[in-house]
Amino acid sequence: MSQEIKITIWNEYRHEKTNDQVSSIYPQGMHSAIAEGLHGTSDKITIATLDDPEHGLSEAVLEQTDVLIWWGHMAHDEVNNEIVDRVYQRVLKGMGLIVLHSGHFSKIFKKLMGTSCDLKWREAGEKERIWVVNPGHPIADGIGEYIELPQEEMYGEHFDIPQPDELVMVSWFEGGEVFRSGCCYTRGSGKIFYFRPGHETYPTYYNPQIRKVISNAVKWAAPVKRDYPRYGHAEQPLEIIKGDNK
Ligand code: ZN
Repeated sequence: MSQEIKITIWNEYRHEKTNDQVSSIYPQGMHSAIAEGLHGTSDKITIATLDDPEHGLSEAVLEQTDVLIWWGHMAHDEVNNEIVDRVYQRVLKGMGLIVLHSGHFSKIFKKLMGTSCDLKWREAGEKERIWVVNPGHPIADGIGEYIELPQEEMYGEHFDIPQPDELVMVSWFEGGEVFRSGCCYTRGSGKIFYFRPGHETYPTYYNPQIRKVISNAVKWAAPVKRDYPRYGHAEQPLEIIKGDNK
């Protein structure tokens, strides 16, 4: 691979330390399972967690990140607003962001969306079938008609998000609810993908198809190579302005 995408995986990393069920599924942390799934995509993977200094997201780390993956749940409030703003500015400047599962309530996702990002949920170990509704989309590359997860937490509509620029996947749950589970946005120069599955008590991030979606999303969200747009006073015109069109 000539130009490897530089990925940073941000994991809150609290459930794994406090819940035996979670640590038995993800003994090295959920970030390790997510990273393992990305090894065919890029080996330039940095891990950042909530309890690291600056949550592992220093200016230098973000400057070197093409795509940031975000998993958080129980400690959204502990994420420092200054760091949230730093991530926000990087997204506007072109960094890709992939928000997973309970990251729907993270400060960064809510700030980028501008809505409550609220939804319905239920923990009943029910089946989830994630349907591809946009088969030509790069994030659906190599994915069949649907992905079936034997057990997941249910997230149901209404999901209070802005209308996605592109909707790639919709989930159906055994209990009857549906949910927009693969949503694409752009904010500034940055691309954002929200991907629903990944409750901490299920081995979802070992599923090869889930890993494929995340890998496709990383490639889709990677920044394009071009200069940052110029804004503000354009004093020097490109052409001589004769001003005789009155
Ligand atoms: Zn969950």
